[in-house]
Amino acid sequence: MNRPLLIDGALVWGEAGFRAGGVLVEGERIAAVGWTDDERRDLRARAAETVPADEHWLIPGLIDAHAHGYATLLRGTENSLPLELWALYTTLYGRAYDARAIRAAVLLGAAERIRGGVTGVIDHAPMVHLAEAALAAHEQTGLRVGYAAFLHDISDHDLLGMTLPPSVAGGLPPVDPSAYAARFAEVLAVARAGSGRVGVQLGPNAPQRCSPEAWALWKTLRDRHGVNVHMHLMETRAQAEIGKCRGPEGLVAEMERFGLLEDGLAAAHGIWLSEVERERLARHAVTVVHNPASNLMLGSGIMPLSSYRDLGTTVALGTDSANTGGRHDMFETMRLALMLPRIGTSQHETWPRAEEILTMATRNGAQVLGLGGQVGEIAAGRLADLALVRCDHPTTLGMRRDASAFVQHGSPEAVDSVMVNGTWVMRERRILAFDEVAVLREAEAVMAALRERTEADRALLDAALPALSQSFAAQLPGFRKT
Ligand SMILES: [Zn+2]
Repeated sequence: MNRPLLIDGALVWGEAGFRAGGVLVEGERIAAVGWTDDERRDLRARAAETVPADEHWLIPGLIDAHAHGYATLLRGTENSLPLELWALYTTLYGRAYDARAIRAAVLLGAAERIRGGVTGVIDHAPMVHLAEAALAAHEQTGLRVGYAAFLHDISDHDLLGMTLPPSVAGGLPPVDPSAYAARFAEVLAVARAGSGRVGVQLGPNAPQRCSPEAWALWKTLRDRHGVNVHMHLMETRAQAEIGKCRGPEGLVAEMERFGLLEDGLAAAHGIWLSEVERERLARHAVTVVHNPASNLMLGSGIMPLSSYRDLGTTVALGTDSANTGGRHDMFETMRLALMLPRIGTSQHETWPRAEEILTMATRNGAQVLGLGGQVGEIAAGRLADLALVRCDHPTTLGMRRDASAFVQHGSPEAVDSVMVNGTWVMRERRILAFDEVAVLREAEAVMAALRERTEADRALLDAALPALSQSFAAQLPGFRKT
């Protein structure tokens, strides 16, 4: 067990905002938080080691509540397309992955996140056949992870009636419930034999991409294993159109009728829902994950954050894929979430406050990991997932040091040290959890191999793209006009 360690003198994020304090970490947990001089003196007496942290903010580690681990290797690939066309490329690349590639992707993403003050991440993972490699890599990163294993049996291009070139079609086979259930149990067993930092969730790709048989399997596995569920929901206008076809009142009403809406469910995006559908989610305490950078990059739309806030919905924040949202930068994500609701209303009293946004990136993210009340807050008894961020960095030095200053000016560059489960994974900007230089070298080699393996199919898809774009637009009259 780690010796009692005191992080002393930082501006600590708590119920009353940022205040100078001391945080005593014993083993994996926060043992005590001291605010007054007396309390902090007492903590110093209990500590075997003290880390002076003046000129720092101390926050619960940021939680990236929606992302796809494999995609970190796809930085720089096609992302100037709407989701339905973009997906053809990411699927094409995805088919070329092997265990080495998934491992390289997970570790590269972890290096970026640790440097950005992130301690927890959801990996919504399509490549369930490579789960062992992904889970082993996640263990090595030192981060806290929710690995959400994909479940789906309907492709977007089938839903949209798009005909793909045979070499890139790669349609999905119907789900085999017993084979999937056995595989899911295997993946769970692997994770449960690990450190406890890496958990498994069920990750239906999206409800419209799952057949009625897959919905039944979803419910069965959720209840059998008591796992959280993570999915995409109504990310694009096309999905909203498709959703209307599933049941007389649409997709979300069908999900409610089927018993799929519950408080262990997290829905990424939630852009194209009606008010009634948003109310249905709120009624069942479904968490919604806002991915503003990804939504803007793919032209998907802007999530109505104010509406979700009014309904009392728990909203968390995510960076999504590296080949959609770009950086896995939760500071950028927080700033976008802060700014976007300002468009369209000059009633500044209704704009979200920085404190709320920071809560979305920490405490609310913990809900998505299934760890509400365990991480995402700095309080005695919580697991010690923490990040120290410099207040005196060239980008952060300012007149005030409150939450507003933190969200407006914080950045990965100002993150100094990161702790997960009471262990430093980065100290004074040096990653300790793994050999970062080796990770970068390996990722570069794997990217080159992936590029080579996918070159021919990518050229075919490039050639077919104009026709596919036309067919996509024809399915959705008015799509391009709005
Ligand atoms: Zn996603």
